[in-house]
Amino acid sequence: MEFEPVIGLEVHAEMQTRSKMFCSCEVVDNTAAPPNSAVCPVCAGMPGALPVVNERAVEFALRVALALECEVQRTSIFARKNYFYPDLPKGYQISQYEQPLAVNGKLVIRTSEGEETIRVRRVHLEEDTGKLTHVDGASLVDLNRAGVALLEIVSEPDLHSAEAAKAYGESLREILRYLAVNSGDMEKGIIRFEANVSVRKKGDKELGIRTEVKNLNSFRALERAIEYEIKRQGKIIEAGGTIEQETLGWNEARGETYSQRSKEDAHDYRYFPEPDLPPLVIEDAWINRVRDSLPELPREKSLRLIKQYGLTNYDASRLVVEQEIADYFEATVRALPSAVSPKAAANIMLGDLFSLMNQAGLTVSQQKVRPEALGELAGLVSEGEINQTSAKEVLIEMFASGRSAAEIVEARGLKQVSDEAFISDLVRQTLAENPNEAASYKSGKAGVMNFLFGQVMKKAAGRANPAVVRAELEKRLTQ
Ligand code: ADP
Ligand code: MG
Ligand code: ZN
Repeated sequence: MEFEPVIGLEVHAEMQTRSKMFCSCEVVDNTAAPPNSAVCPVCAGMPGALPVVNERAVEFALRVALALECEVQRTSIFARKNYFYPDLPKGYQISQYEQPLAVNGKLVIRTSEGEETIRVRRVHLEEDTGKLTHVDGASLVDLNRAGVALLEIVSEPDLHSAEAAKAYGESLREILRYLAVNSGDMEKGIIRFEANVSVRKKGDKELGIRTEVKNLNSFRALERAIEYEIKRQGKIIEAGGTIEQETLGWNEARGETYSQRSKEDAHDYRYFPEPDLPPLVIEDAWINRVRDSLPELPREKSLRLIKQYGLTNYDASRLVVEQEIADYFEATVRALPSAVSPKAAANIMLGDLFSLMNQAGLTVSQQKVRPEALGELAGLVSEGEINQTSAKEVLIEMFASGRSAAEIVEARGLKQVSDEAFISDLVRQTLAENPNEAASYKSGKAGVMNFLFGQVMKKAAGRANPAVVRAELEKRLTQ
């Protein structure tokens, strides 16, 4: 039997505003701040404390909704989602249910099969829960995270492979970082992914029963867990069994999903409108203001880089991963001498510079090579001032010391020699020392040229301009 996997992703992203969603407590780094140091009666769920909506959090959410081309609902409603858990002091989470902030968006992803549009079902605002730490048979509660603004972004079940799901996740993360609403840190749980996975017989229209996998804190885990679920479910159905709808965890070490609980339904939460908050009404003027302030997003940027600079799809997609990388590239291009192609700058940057950065564990803004300096280096290579081998050596030194390319070339005597009189002299000497080879070239053995070229370069200690050497050799040998 042939199966088709069906996947929908739910993404929770903290809106990294200064204060929490419904109170003025500071949003702190959960791994650094002392436990319960950013807590007040509102986020600690004291009876009678009243929530107030954080305007900035709504603005951040609007950025995301508009970047995903959603319809923003003019009125959205906060609701209480009731359940008990020790990290939820109120006994309910304020979320949006029937009337979310935004609906019907889309995200274009790129996989090995090309571009594909994934529909976004809804984007809504809610509040995060606290955090539990289990130690020595006890559980500790930290409410620093309780009440932090959380955006939930839910896709339609439009994804059909682990690769596509990962591409969707990566692309969404990139967009959130471009919008400056979320750091994209998966390890710290600032952004969290849950995968809903089902399989169905190829050609079937109806969706199969799904499982939902939580605790995926890397894209590798996301991809592996989905692959695992597709296989596991396929086997069960193949054997005539049925899938149980449940919530699963992911065991990274064992590479397996495991059952956490049977899936709860919406009615289990007894949703009802939050009586302490009025409906959230968003005026057109606000939407327009936010839309106008959106930055150029990764896909648009990638298309522009391809068009404007003649880059390949692959190079462009690597350059737009981070806004600062793309900015660095464009600053480098501006510093290039006009005759040098931007492709040459992209090559040095994505090749040698990136490998130096990776080795040193530095980001593009942390390392010492300024875009102007990289542009100068690309210029020196393209204009034949230094050759490729020297360029690598120069870049390593630039990376270590922050000195300019020209300075290093000068200090190390790496300048390529293009002087015709000098090269002509070397060629004359070489031909005089190798009369037999010169003669056999003249009698038609064209292959000897490479040998003679090598001899001249050797005399020049590798610094002679290869184009000038070849021209000079040809000139003399055909005289
Ligand atoms: P919840 O998980 O909160 O009950 P939804 O019903 O809104 O919420 O579904 C959540 C996610 O599950 C969505 O991303 C949706 O696309 C996906 N999904 C729903 N049904 C299936 C299915 N049969 N197979 C795969 N994904 C599904
Ligand atoms: Mg769900
Ligand atoms: Zn608070």
